[in-house]
Amino acid sequence: MGKKKRRTRRESKQPSFFLLTLGCPKNEFDSEGISEMLLQARYHSTPDPAAADVMIVNTCGFLQAAKDESIQTLRELAASKRKNQLLIAAGCMAQRFGAEVTQQVDGLDGLIGTRSWADIVPFIQNLRANKRPEPLFHLPETGDVPLETVALNRQQVNPGRTSAYLKISDGCSAPCAFCTIPGFKGLNRSRPREHLLAEARRLQDSGVQEIILIAQDTTAYGRDWGQTDGLPSLLEELVAAAPEIRWWRLMYAYPGHATNRLVEVMAAHPQIIPYIDMPLQHGHPDTLRRMRRPHNVDKLLRWIESYRGALPHAVLRTTFIVGYPGETEAEFQGLLDFMGAVEFDRAGAFVFSPEPGTPAFDLPDQIDAQTAQARWERLMEFQQPISLRRNQQMVGQRLDVIVDGAGDGVSITRSYRDAPEIDGYVVVEKELPVGSMVPVFVTGAMEYDLMAVPADEPILVM
Ligand code: SF4
Repeated sequence: MGKKKRRTRRESKQPSFFLLTLGCPKNEFDSEGISEMLLQARYHSTPDPAAADVMIVNTCGFLQAAKDESIQTLRELAASKRKNQLLIAAGCMAQRFGAEVTQQVDGLDGLIGTRSWADIVPFIQNLRANKRPEPLFHLPETGDVPLETVALNRQQVNPGRTSAYLKISDGCSAPCAFCTIPGFKGLNRSRPREHLLAEARRLQDSGVQEIILIAQDTTAYGRDWGQTDGLPSLLEELVAAAPEIRWWRLMYAYPGHATNRLVEVMAAHPQIIPYIDMPLQHGHPDTLRRMRRPHNVDKLLRWIESYRGALPHAVLRTTFIVGYPGETEAEFQGLLDFMGAVEFDRAGAFVFSPEPGTPAFDLPDQIDAQTAQARWERLMEFQQPISLRRNQQMVGQRLDVIVDGAGDGVSITRSYRDAPEIDGYVVVEKELPVGSMVPVFVTGAMEYDLMAVPADEPILVM
């Protein structure tokens, strides 16, 4: 009895952490790394911020709206902070705005940047050991911490996951005039191939079925070493290294870097699912030129044709920016015409956000907020019947789906057409084992989601 009590007291001394991730899948990937490092250091994770010794927010600072959300979240946690609890801002907003964050959030104990999170354990130890009146900064200039170090620190993966992100590079070398990312993440740096192959094998061995390749620009993989087709070669090696992975999914492709070789490799390997997320930002050449983006729309259309020609039922997802400085009504209409011509399976949009420090911030002819918002609404309305039509083409098809959740007689699943937390679902009329991959028949379509029954159930054909 006495022994038991002593053990409980020792266990309760193990520090606990609460980790909240804001922003995109790239941040989720970094959060997994932070979490794994803390678990290895014998911290334990808690979903309750009030119960945690250390509260960490992996922030997003890409746009003003994301910064506001990060600040608000930090303020709420700071307001409920107990004595001896630590509050840390990690990630993009911490890196981008540094000291400014500490002026806006009272009670912040530390800031750790996008390429220094590998030091999270000693950073927290330092904070716990040394009480200090001012927050501690660990925001090395971009490039100070080798990316390889970060990669090497990811030694293990959480078991029991079906789907996992694999970040193949970090930073971006594209010159997009509206984007803050190269300013605080630095230029594109590809992770060493052998690290990625080893990580893919570990994910495979832990039971993961889907690996999602992410980066600021996945198609830039190897370009920092002078390779133009680094991504297709990497994909071939990954598929060979982890042959049991059922789905390889590609996010964040850049139109100027998507090659025919990429299409050939995707067509040759059925495990590389025919899904590409390619944020295009606009469809009118003049707007694209001002955005400093690839603006040869005919070339892009030819590439899309070859992608769809080589891969039946290929899915193309994209994102656009509306209300970019100087966007005339004719340019906006050109964007809608482009969307109508391509018929993207999925398309999202943002209203342009002028970010200080970017060339677009100072461009003339800024669009007023009302016009930009109205264009956003028109774009979303324009896309809806297209998404519905594309979904309707799937009715009657047999698809493999991953079961994400089940209850109340239905399962929430995803097919190759649905990236987690970004696209829609396939709702299956039966409770299926969560984490399994099962075949289904599609019976109905809505704008975002599909309805289906398990493939072994009789289907009622109307
Ligand atoms: S490609 Fe994407 S991340 Fe890179 S500069 Fe352009 S918008 Fe930013």
